[in-house]
Amino acid sequence: MNLIEEAYRRLFPEKEFVYQTELEYNRRLSSFNSNIKLYNNTLSVAMNLQWKDIDDEIKIGLIQHLLLRLLKKKATTPNIHLYHHFISQIPTFMPKGESDPMLAASFERINQQFFSGAMEQPNLRWGTASRNRLAYYNLHDDSVTVSTHFQNAPEHLLDYLMYHELLHKQFKFEHKNGRTHAHTPAFRAAEAQFPNFKGIDTELQTYLSSRRRIGVLRSLESKRSSFLGFWR
Ligand SMILES: [Zn+2]
Repeated sequence: MNLIEEAYRRLFPEKEFVYQTELEYNRRLSSFNSNIKLYNNTLSVAMNLQWKDIDDEIKIGLIQHLLLRLLKKKATTPNIHLYHHFISQIPTFMPKGESDPMLAASFERINQQFFSGAMEQPNLRWGTASRNRLAYYNLHDDSVTVSTHFQNAPEHLLDYLMYHELLHKQFKFEHKNGRTHAHTPAFRAAEAQFPNFKGIDTELQTYLSSRRRIGVLRSLESKRSSFLGFWR
């Protein structure tokens, strides 16, 4: 079966399929990543090698997802649902490496306090000394990465970043009308459970200012800037 053609035909049954196709698996793309290109009437899809043995129905969903992005169209199909379900399950089967002890301790505090100790530990690692991206959760390899600026931070500031990122793991992502919403109202309500949540952004800013040498503070995390006016 030509997966690209099949994905296209199921998505646009009324249209003629007029493309050449290329499907490649490689190791250059990061974990469970993929991309699509259209040039000279050739639809070219590349997937990380990890996709190779995944069920064709899920891959058709992935290709449909890529096609919609390429063609700037919105739709949802049973295959796209399968694909999103599969992606949301990745954290449960990704192998875990060694985690940093300070981050593991923070994870354990938050896990006990907010998740009844029931959350499975993701990969935990320090990133770079970034002021723009203080922390992030990567669903594709189930990892939380924290800026090294927080290696000497007060414990509750590190814990707050950890809590925010673990909520991303908990909520995964909600998929609505072809768009992904990371900070849903439910997410924000859960986040506000953190002790002294109202003052936490001021504290983060004060802490980072105390470590500031040059440059201008930008958003806490690009996605967050829309609701944390203080950081805009
Ligand atoms: Zn976030």
